[in-house]
Amino acid sequence: MSKKVFVLDSSGIIGGFISGEFSNYTTSQVVTEIRDIKSQLFLQEALENKQITIMEPGPEDIKAVEEVITRSGDLLRLSDVDKGVIALAVYLRGDNLSPTLVTDDYSIQNVLMIMEIPFKSIQTRGINDVVGWIKFCKGCKKTYPSNYQETDCEICGSPISRKRTRKITK
Ligand SMILES: [Zn+2]
Repeated sequence: MSKKVFVLDSSGIIGGFISGEFSNYTTSQVVTEIRDIKSQLFLQEALENKQITIMEPGPEDIKAVEEVITRSGDLLRLSDVDKGVIALAVYLRGDNLSPTLVTDDYSIQNVLMIMEIPFKSIQTRGINDVVGWIKFCKGCKKTYPSNYQETDCEICGSPISRKRTRKITK
């Protein structure tokens, strides 16, 4: 059985997720997305304690992700950072590890379901429970659960808007 590892996107880090039992990974692009002091300190401590490793996917892993999202129609919804973090999971899976991506981003979760990469949601219950409305950032297009209380994006500070979602079933 391949060894379980976690890959964190910015929502995973902001949500304060670090596995004590399994290895945690993220990309340098995700690190630069972390703007709030509390999350920066959390990440800094995890790095110092060697609880999380920063690793970059290879160009072929990014290409594999781009091929999938071009076909699925998720291309415009995903940032380079999002693509990078999915590609890191693809890379780790190719290295005979069993990655679970920690993310609250519905667009990322949608792509992960297509690519059969497990994911774990921190603040919400995952894409299959979502019907109706989701909120999204007008700036960086980050998606938030419909019960997200803040009016500004926790990543880039732009205003949050909302849109209707279709229910996505497996
Ligand atoms: Zn934003």
